[in-house]
Amino acid sequence: MNDCIFCKIAKGEIPSTSVYSDEYVYAFRDINPQTDTHILVIPRAHIESAANITPENSVETSRCFEAIAKIAAQEGLTEKGFRVISNSGTGAGQSVFHLHFHILSGPGLGERLI
Ligand code: AMP
Ligand code: ZN
Repeated sequence: MNDCIFCKIAKGEIPSTSVYSDEYVYAFRDINPQTDTHILVIPRAHIESAANITPENSVETSRCFEAIAKIAAQEGLTEKGFRVISNSGTGAGQSVFHLHFHILSGPGLGERLI
């Protein structure tokens, strides 16, 4: 997608702080962190949101979750604990319409919604 900010980040056309990269997945630090560790994990392929995951593209999502486990280990979050969130649709607060998974770890997570 030409005008998608996360497609541009995945291609290196917009700078980001890289945390993890492979053939399917790119991960980088959120520009506006909500807690100590706030990382975004995205498929390189443009998928709008979790509402658009299909049998044809679900490998992108499974690769994202494989990456999440690696990133958690790399960032020392496996023992500490972390949360994975994906907002889908404006009603859920999605602001960038390229599928992404927030990895959050830090104080306050015990008091949140779920
Ligand atoms: P959401 O609101 O769930 O769609 O999440 C979008 C996230 O992208 C927000 O947490 C933003 O802070 C983050 N974000 C937007 N632009 C950038 C950027 N250029 N680099 C890093 N994170 C970004
Ligand atoms: Zn995109």
